[in-house]
Amino acid sequence: MATETHCPYCSLQCGMRLTGRRVPEVSAWEEFPVNAGALCRKGWAAAGLYGGRERLTSPLVRDRVTGEWTAVSWDDALDRVVAGLRGAQAEKGPDGVAVFGGGGLTNEKAYALGKLARVALGTSQIDYNGRWCMSSAASAGIRAFGLDRGLPFPLADVEETDVLVLVGSNLAETMPPAARHLDRLRARGGRVVVIDPRRTPTADRADLVLQPVPGTDLALALGLLHLLVAAGAVDEDYLAARTTGWAEVEESVAPWWPERVERVTGIEAAEVRELAAVLAGSPRVMVLTARGAEQHSTGSDTVLAWINVALALGMVGKRGAGYGCLTGQGNGQGGREHGQKADQLPGYRRIDDPAARAHVAGVWGVDPDSLPGPGRSAYELLDACGTDDGPSAMLVLGSNIVVSAPNATQVTARLEALDLLVVCDVVMSETAAIADVVLPVTQWAEETGTMTNLEGRVVLRQKAITPPSGVRSDLEVIAAIAERLGSTATFATDPEEVFAELGRASAGGPADYSTITYDRIRDEGGVFWGGERLFASSFAHADGRARMLAVEHRGAAEVPDDDYPVHLTTGRVLAQYQSGAQTRRVRDLPDDGPFVELHPLLAGRLGLATGEAVQVSTRRGTMTAPARVVTTIRPDTVFVPFHWVGANRLTNDALDPASRMPEFKVCAARLAAVGRG
Ligand code: SF4
Repeated sequence: MATETHCPYCSLQCGMRLTGRRVPEVSAWEEFPVNAGALCRKGWAAAGLYGGRERLTSPLVRDRVTGEWTAVSWDDALDRVVAGLRGAQAEKGPDGVAVFGGGGLTNEKAYALGKLARVALGTSQIDYNGRWCMSSAASAGIRAFGLDRGLPFPLADVEETDVLVLVGSNLAETMPPAARHLDRLRARGGRVVVIDPRRTPTADRADLVLQPVPGTDLALALGLLHLLVAAGAVDEDYLAARTTGWAEVEESVAPWWPERVERVTGIEAAEVRELAAVLAGSPRVMVLTARGAEQHSTGSDTVLAWINVALALGMVGKRGAGYGCLTGQGNGQGGREHGQKADQLPGYRRIDDPAARAHVAGVWGVDPDSLPGPGRSAYELLDACGTDDGPSAMLVLGSNIVVSAPNATQVTARLEALDLLVVCDVVMSETAAIADVVLPVTQWAEETGTMTNLEGRVVLRQKAITPPSGVRSDLEVIAAIAERLGSTATFATDPEEVFAELGRASAGGPADYSTITYDRIRDEGGVFWGGERLFASSFAHADGRARMLAVEHRGAAEVPDDDYPVHLTTGRVLAQYQSGAQTRRVRDLPDDGPFVELHPLLAGRLGLATGEAVQVSTRRGTMTAPARVVTTIRPDTVFVPFHWVGANRLTNDALDPASRMPEFKVCAARLAAVGRG
């Protein structure tokens, strides 16, 4: 009999059916509404995660002198882990130990990990790789609307709008089943606008494509709002009834005439005017941002600027219109709601809110005063590892930091400076390879748990196959560590039990899961927390109004100069997912390795042709990969995919002041044809 479950990868969480006991067979689950049976190449090939020889099935410890790995028993491994954690805390206090999670962990795991940190370890030092995914949109959403739910409406609402503006999203390549909504929208006469420095496969489905200089999306939004004001297209009644702050925002966009926008963004003033006219004349406009707009040191202000456009047009809360963020990681939404973030308790509560602390401490059966305060953000936490003031031991779940962290050479050195690095993983990832202890855990179809997709729809990944002997679930590992640490709080290992506890802990919080159960999810094809559509009549701020916040264009933290004369941007390819720890090992997915995409004008200056080796250098590192010469990228910009070691050795660790998002999407680089100087 087939098990109905969901894809192991991205935030669409496509439904699929699995059969088979050891290696599953994937088939379509047409009734699941999000993807209606469609899957991308990664989803169809998901069974390839099983049956490979690389799967870890025994705990391993590494000799730091010889570098040799030795298989040990679970008891031995856990005893070593806990002795190391205790030693670090004896030397440095509770914050001597850090915990690092991931946006791919189930809600249950994210919740249990946060509880392990705050209750069993008493450390404030916990954050996760989702900080690098959507934190800028989350920060902006909370400030503007009082609530962060990536899409406040079902994704299918895209088909009902008149103009869809995609800012920094390559949706057709990163989540192909979602691209059918673009096709249907256009079939009924709607228009798609794509804003991206690269002309991606998503642009092939667009009516208007704008290719700004990386890091200037904010200036474009300011310029559009300037023109909308001039055209009298602003919805004054909506602004008066549903928002605050419009006067300051209106004043702030006055100096952003189209020619100034052209100078900053590289987009011709005529094109800016064309887009403004399209927006001004459309009854329903929907703006969706993704990593291209958000992964900047100005990411949260950029999102606020686009939210201001949507609010000024009176679109937010209107059916088939509004603003949303296309979250990336599988549990990018749920992973940011239940306590693995440095400043957060379950239910999207703030850890510095006394009422939130009292509620969650009550569920956990501990004194609220025993809970630590906020800790460091992801990059700052990693950068502190092994320093006098930072943690000297770290536990990592669901993250391949060595590949995915910005300024990765520096981060790897910090991880190597730890006295103890413990990694829970299914394979010997690049991060596991530098750990002291690796704990082999179950994955995807071997375990049950909930994920919250990009729409805020809580879905159930159900266990379909038997895990290999020797592995344990992350929940069992967390419970075993807590028990060895002598925690008085209980740590359940049954996912449904953990989910029920999560529901109680989240009750009354911004992301309240208390009425959601596994049975409801099965019966209803997923359950939206907070309701299917949000903001129809009020926003989540106490007065029910959205906040319009005036923001300024600041530009990228690092701009090209004589030494590093081009922009470098990073992103994804269809066949790979995130750090590639899973997908690079799936035989049915092509793994051609990294490449450097550049325009013929730039390639010509270097004498480069497709396939020839090119070295890319920034102030932080260097990598070499084959060139791909394409006309679809700006001549002043190069692109490198981040699924392999290398791209993030180059990226900038400049952080957004509000979200602490690193500037993955733009820095200054120089190129050299290898062998030609
Ligand atoms: Fe999986 Fe995302 Fe592809 Fe759907 S679009 S099959 S969730 S990787």
